[in-house]
Amino acid sequence: MIEMAIASGKGGVGKSTVSSTIAITLAKKRKVIAVDADADAPNMHLILGMRESKWEWEEPYSDSMVAKIVQAKCIKCDECRKICPYRAISIDPQGNYVISQVICEGCLTCSLICPVKGAIVREQALSGIMRMTHTKYGFPLISARLSPGRPNTGKLVTEEKTKAKEIADQETVIVVDSAAGIGCQVVSSLAGANMAILVAEPTPASFNALKRVHTLAKHFMQPAAIVINKWDMNSQLSEEIEAYARENNLDFLGKVPYDDSIPKSMALMKPVMEAFPDSSSSKALLEVAERVGSILDNWRSWFMRYRPKKPEPYKPVIIKPEGF
Ligand code: SF4
Ligand code: SF4
Repeated sequence: MIEMAIASGKGGVGKSTVSSTIAITLAKKRKVIAVDADADAPNMHLILGMRESKWEWEEPYSDSMVAKIVQAKCIKCDECRKICPYRAISIDPQGNYVISQVICEGCLTCSLICPVKGAIVREQALSGIMRMTHTKYGFPLISARLSPGRPNTGKLVTEEKTKAKEIADQETVIVVDSAAGIGCQVVSSLAGANMAILVAEPTPASFNALKRVHTLAKHFMQPAAIVINKWDMNSQLSEEIEAYARENNLDFLGKVPYDDSIPKSMALMKPVMEAFPDSSSSKALLEVAERVGSILDNWRSWFMRYRPKKPEPYKPVIIKPEGF
């Protein structure tokens, strides 16, 4: 089993397009499971032409607690509403005190001040939904959708990857399309992956984000490869990104030109290689995906060549008020 995480550090650079093309291409010869690890804004199913209502399996996901007022016991003293640090408690049109499940952090400060025993209880919050379906491209897609205001997105991504491993076998390639940024979802996407594929576009923001997410991959001792999307928007910066790849022992998978076919294919809810197979972007993406196939064919030697020599230490950024 090989798990590859596709990450970019920055949103909107074409990561899900690259992930989908890799999954579709590899699935022609191998057993593939795709994981959409962006639980805040899942979109891989849309790129693969699936509508929200077509999931074969769905399961509620809960990993946190929220407070709830037992109306029969509440004496409407207002103490909880005054003390809630998150302003999660309000009075509804019927005069009842109610707690917003979206805002409540489950700290239970309200229950400590409540004069009536048992008037405020804790209950499981619906944190999100895990779901799975079989795509028409011959591989299952595991996805998740976080409920508004719920934390622990990284834990939900870990659950998705665990589900993928449960149905995988030794020959399976798990393609994880991670979220943007380097937050907990991305950390969970990269943690345990055998390789990272980093997608960048030639903009200063994307190049900077690429370096940050590459640091994370090095922390996990992952060999990494790079794809430049929309490379012709700024060919000079593209060359700088290529130079960064050479200097930092990143494999270079290829460059995809800017092409209207990609947003048009998204509007059609089709992968670009299906909607516009003769477009320049489709051909370039296919070459990238085939290059990933060659990496898997020569996995051991590729892994040894591109594996970081030592792990990047974890350096937390500590922000202090001025004068400290
Ligand atoms: S548990 Fe905390 S956040 Fe939730 S309503 Fe009570 S005081 Fe507010
Ligand atoms: S503190 Fe307790 S009794 Fe008072 S309004 Fe809140 S839930 Fe009701």
